[in-house]
Amino acid sequence: MRTQIVIVGSGPSGLLLGQLLAKAGIDTIILEQKSKDYVLGRIRAGVLEQGTVALLEEAGAAERLHREGLVHEGTEIAFDGMRHRIDFKALTGKTVTVYVQTEVTRDLMEARAAIGASTWYEALSVSLHDVDGRRPRVRFGANGETHEIECDYIAGCDGFHGVSRRTLPEDRISAYERVYPFGWLGVLVDKPPISDELIYVNHERGFALCSMRSKSRSRYYLQCRSDEHIEDWPDDKFWEELTRRLDPETARNLQPGASIEKSIAPLLSFVAEPMRFGNLFLAGDSAHIVPPTGAKGLNLAASDVGYLSAALIDRYKRGSTAGLEAYADRALARVWKAVRFSWWMTQMLHRFPEASGFDRKVRAAELKYLLGSKAAQTSLAENYVGLPY
Ligand SMILES: Cc1cc2nc3c(=O)[nH]c(=O)nc-3n(C[C@H](O)[C@H](O)[C@H](O)COP(=O)(O)OP(=O)(O)OC[C@H]3O[C@@H](n4cnc5c(N)ncnc54)[C@H](O)[C@@H]3O)c2cc1C
Repeated sequence: MRTQIVIVGSGPSGLLLGQLLAKAGIDTIILEQKSKDYVLGRIRAGVLEQGTVALLEEAGAAERLHREGLVHEGTEIAFDGMRHRIDFKALTGKTVTVYVQTEVTRDLMEARAAIGASTWYEALSVSLHDVDGRRPRVRFGANGETHEIECDYIAGCDGFHGVSRRTLPEDRISAYERVYPFGWLGVLVDKPPISDELIYVNHERGFALCSMRSKSRSRYYLQCRSDEHIEDWPDDKFWEELTRRLDPETARNLQPGASIEKSIAPLLSFVAEPMRFGNLFLAGDSAHIVPPTGAKGLNLAASDVGYLSAALIDRYKRGSTAGLEAYADRALARVWKAVRFSWWMTQMLHRFPEASGFDRKVRAAELKYLLGSKAAQTSLAENYVGLPY
């Protein structure tokens, strides 16, 4: 087989890239190791920056998002038993949209199917060859046979555990990492959200987040130890602990219910540099991971794809490789700012087991400063709604 771009992975970054390139008449083949249903079943992110929404519009996959997505003009931070609102719209003129990753994925898959672009699901043992040479190729197994695709470029959109980053020689890649000493225990429940906007809770027992997926479905998180298992957290225990961490008024409005999904996610910051090696370009989680506190993972995948799709379109339509040469530096500059913001939100809002009395006092002072300062709130708001790209 032959195509212009092989995209490894059909998560949000791979599907969005495929769609933006297809709109410009560029051929792609997507290889995904899991089944379509498996990919659609993964419960993950839910907060979209305006830039992400704009890219989905450009990709022709935003119609349902605009119908069903919930536009949020602010968020709340609960501290010392009180809720404080940060007004994104007033501070930055921008908003975010709550629309779940599973639906973003579904819309992009449907848009891809509508144009008849090629996707191989359950592609086995995907391997990348000659990525920095003249004949980049990707091999994979399907239907009991081995297939090979020749291409101009490969986009590694295969997430943190994918094969693309691992194809790079170890001495050509630098990894920067921070492992946080806790995780997030998440519960999905068919109950209306407790509030119209997300509530980030700082409490001496640990962080909590009241979030939502739609007007009838809520998502709650509790900071937990990294070594805990979901079996340690029956529903009753979860609701009891969440109630303890909420301010009295919010706690009174809480509608507990039977969990329809429960999982524990470890918190990690990770960046691999460079994001380009020869004709291989990494995008999204294959190159970087952030803790979900700043709602940046999916949005960073989208901004990488924004830079990469523009560079590839320039290469094919105008014969210029300047965008491809600049891709890694441009993407990484934005990635590191989001890594900083996600780290900052995480360290400010969570309880760190090793924190000294001094650390806790400084953290409380930081929150009080934030909640009393328009300048500090503007800084949070402009990062939360998404830095420009
Ligand atoms: C449990 C969890 C919860 C999260 N919650 C949030 C959140 O609340 N907010 C937020 O902003 N972000 C969150 N994220 C992060 C967000 O979901 C990711 O940043 C986003 O999915 C990145 O998209 P991606 O397409 O780059 O990678 P992925 O979504 O990981 O997609 C990669 C795709 O590549 C496929 N693949 C992997 N290896 C191979 C291979 N060898 N061959 C072929 N295909 C392969 C995978 O099956 C997958 O479909 C969460 C992530 C996780 C894991």
